[in-house]
Amino acid sequence: MNLLSIGGSDPSSGAGIQSDIKTFSSFNVHCLTVVTAITSQNTSNFGIVEPVSQKILKDQILSVMSDFKIDGIKIGMVYNSDIIKILHTKLRKLKIPIVVDPVIKSTTGGMLIEKTAIVDFQKYIIPLATVITPNKYEAEILSKSKITSKKSTSMVAKKIQRMGAKNVVITGAQTGSKKISDFILEKHKEYYISGEKINSINHGSGCNYSAAIVFALAKNKTIEESLRFAQQFTHNSIKNAKKVGKGIVITEIQD
Ligand code: PLP
Repeated sequence: MNLLSIGGSDPSSGAGIQSDIKTFSSFNVHCLTVVTAITSQNTSNFGIVEPVSQKILKDQILSVMSDFKIDGIKIGMVYNSDIIKILHTKLRKLKIPIVVDPVIKSTTGGMLIEKTAIVDFQKYIIPLATVITPNKYEAEILSKSKITSKKSTSMVAKKIQRMGAKNVVITGAQTGSKKISDFILEKHKEYYISGEKINSINHGSGCNYSAAIVFALAKNKTIEESLRFAQQFTHNSIKNAKKVGKGIVITEIQD
């Protein structure tokens, strides 16, 4: 199986493309990569972002698509409108699972998308999504609505679904002292998936989650099976997180 990760480079290897290579490799899957932007960041600070040119973005896509059978795609950091529009044009006709992790800001505070590109993200990237995985903060920005209750969680998810995503997961929609729950909106049903909460400020868990979902979907699991699998996988990666740098811990995948 070949899975494609489209996103940003993170030199600390905690998130982004480098993290997805680790996740897909742990599933014995070949990880193809299309880099949208190069970031400078570590476990304490986020430095700068340099998006790649349109020319090299298009040629990376051509390189992987002309050679490999791609079984699923994960889209992470897309950064600007030029990148967003190219991805839309190249991916819109594909009939494979696409998981969109709509990252806006890193845990260390770096902007992963230009503010002015959010409208194009809604218009061109959200409709590509078999599953989109915003956290509460990202869901509020994408829907321009506040999440304050179960009812507003469902309304926010429906707004994002109306933008074109087939299935919407709002991660960490509810948190208690021992449990954390994701809210899921499929075509005709909505439900929560709960797991044991780990108090952790880490780098990489969102990337691990979305990458695990696309793997399960590519293996023909249902949406619910894929989300349960990915929640457990992410729980383990957070539990095994390591302090490798001077700042926050990086999630770790164990075979
Ligand atoms: N850097 C890149 C390139 C990313 O793609 C992401 C998330 O997708 C992050 C940083 C943010 O990671 P975190 O919020 O886990 O620190």
